[in-house]
Amino acid sequence: MNIHEYQAKRLLGTFGAPIAEGVAVYSPEQAEEWAAKLPGPLYVVKSQIHAGGRGKGKFKELGPDAKGGVRLAKSTEEVVAFAKEMLGNTLVTKQTGPAGKVVNRLYIEDGADIERELYLSILVDRSVGRPAFVVSTEGGMDIEAVAEETPEKIVNVAIDPEQGVTDADSAKLCDALELKDEARADGMTLFPILYKAFMEKDMSLLEVNPLIVMKNGRLRVLDAKVSFDGNALFRHDDIRELRDETEEDVKEIEASKWDLAYVALDGNIGCMVNGAGLAMATMDIIKLYGKEPANFCDVGGGASKEKVAAAFKIITADPRVEGILVNIFGGIMKCDVIAEGVVAAVKEVGLKVPLVVRLEGTNVELGKKILNESGLAITAADDLDDAAKKIVAAVNG
Ligand code: GDP
Ligand code: MG
Repeated sequence: MNIHEYQAKRLLGTFGAPIAEGVAVYSPEQAEEWAAKLPGPLYVVKSQIHAGGRGKGKFKELGPDAKGGVRLAKSTEEVVAFAKEMLGNTLVTKQTGPAGKVVNRLYIEDGADIERELYLSILVDRSVGRPAFVVSTEGGMDIEAVAEETPEKIVNVAIDPEQGVTDADSAKLCDALELKDEARADGMTLFPILYKAFMEKDMSLLEVNPLIVMKNGRLRVLDAKVSFDGNALFRHDDIRELRDETEEDVKEIEASKWDLAYVALDGNIGCMVNGAGLAMATMDIIKLYGKEPANFCDVGGGASKEKVAAAFKIITADPRVEGILVNIFGGIMKCDVIAEGVVAAVKEVGLKVPLVVRLEGTNVELGKKILNESGLAITAADDLDDAAKKIVAAVNG
């Protein structure tokens, strides 16, 4: 689960990280009211969407010459003018895709005088099996280009989870970021704070880009992007409350209600599979035969008929889906339960696209019988390869 920048910074602030004063607003009126309470004279008006690259982003409605999704304002009047221009419009950034995202909230912040922009993130480094800091002196808006062109400027410091961030770790990070004097002292306290937030809140990613050294020599978290491990959300009521469903794919929200492992993708073959490995293999083989999957969908081991029907309905409701491939290897999951779920869903919502079904394993004969007697136009397949070929052929017409 992702949250907005302002929520992430507030959360880090509760752990003691240095952040600016700011307010989230939903209307120009609120912007006017609240900006007046900030110290000034510099304000930052920041679009709150679940995507980065906002500074260099462009509003669809405003044309290529208008300012981006993060703007510096020199007066409260300018803050209000920006709020009027930005709210309700669609911001397109490198991370939103061409469709962009509508800006419904702004964060108005006390502006900082920036000396240097640094990059810092914490993630789980699977190659060493530890949480790790990734830092660079080249922070700001082009970290992707730094990673590509000058990877030596990115430094990785893995943390021993038994010990946490030691002074030696913090010193290494300070050296890598070339922090001196007060900024160095700030870094020595900030790095353990960020690590604590990452661990305690079960984050999967904490990215601060930029972490800034201000003209007064102090450090500040200027931008923050945080993702949480969905499997750990049950123990963080405070984090679940921050969820903004308007930022999420409606199909994924529906799927999460049914506890389905579902990820919307860009292709046009809908997949319903049991087991993540088989789901990945199914997506691979669809690509091998020249098409793209519309989704990843793992109905899991012990799914009920209702859950299978819900999954099937989510897949058919996607207007991009031109064909569906059901690929089940019944182990714990029984083929007849899958068949019943599919039939129930089709009875309710109809079936306007070709459907290829490959069933194998527990209760396969019963499953096939249910499908055969349902009167549905189903193409049966013998194995994974056959199934992929058949659905690709059907979609290609
Ligand atoms: P992003 O483009 O989505 O990553 O948004 P950021 O929050 O990182 O802001 C983009 C850029 O705006 C930063 O890299 C800074 O250069 C600039 N910026 C943001 N806040 C301030 C501020 O308080 N003062 C100044 N001078 N620049 C800022
Ligand atoms: Mg940023």
